[in-house]
Amino acid sequence: MFKVGITGNIGSGKTTVCKIFEVLGIPVFYADDEAKKVMVTDDLLIAGIKQTFGNESYFADGALNRKHIAGIVFNNNNELIKLNALVHPAVFRSFDKWVLQFDSKVPYVMKEAALLFESDSYKMCDRTIMVSAPLDLRIKRVTQRDGISVEEVQSRNARQFAEEKKCAMANNLIINDDTELVMPQVLKLHKLYLSLASNK
Ligand code: ATP
Repeated sequence: MFKVGITGNIGSGKTTVCKIFEVLGIPVFYADDEAKKVMVTDDLLIAGIKQTFGNESYFADGALNRKHIAGIVFNNNNELIKLNALVHPAVFRSFDKWVLQFDSKVPYVMKEAALLFESDSYKMCDRTIMVSAPLDLRIKRVTQRDGISVEEVQSRNARQFAEEKKCAMANNLIINDDTELVMPQVLKLHKLYLSLASNK
């Protein structure tokens, strides 16, 4: 199956762009949502988290003790790296399983992940898209959408690779800066991927 990875820093509009691909009939795997799910469903991951961060990482009913985990990884990059090293492979496993259901029923699939490049997930994709927008616009979008502070958005943004670095790493760009129309950019890439997928 031909796989397209799509990313963008906080508030870039990657989910919005994915919804357009979905309308075109392309299934999208939302890795960040899946990461939350596998933390309570993937037995290997649960065992790894308990071993690394203690049994108190989970409540007796199996729910994740988010406060405990957040207390460890918040502002501690080494611990966050450890957590990601456990969670990312579980999300990869889940993506591989998810892809199987489509067989050859769709021309290609997409994987949306905020940390596509940071997690090395892009290496498993045939092509990658970076959705790009200026920081001030991204801050405006996220503060309006989530009601959080400018500082919080800046702090989350600082934990991701720089915009320019991701743009340089991606095969394709979608500019979502409120001046360029998004739809023609999506249609152009869709056409390209249909062609690349049929030649794979
Ligand atoms: P996050 O990294 O926080 O998950 P994201 O990159 O997935 O964000 P979206 O949720 O798609 O970004 O977009 C952020 C906000 O900006 C949403 O409220 C969305 O509706 C809005 N938005 C994105 N692109 C556009 C656009 N081209 N025109 C108008 N609003 C937009």
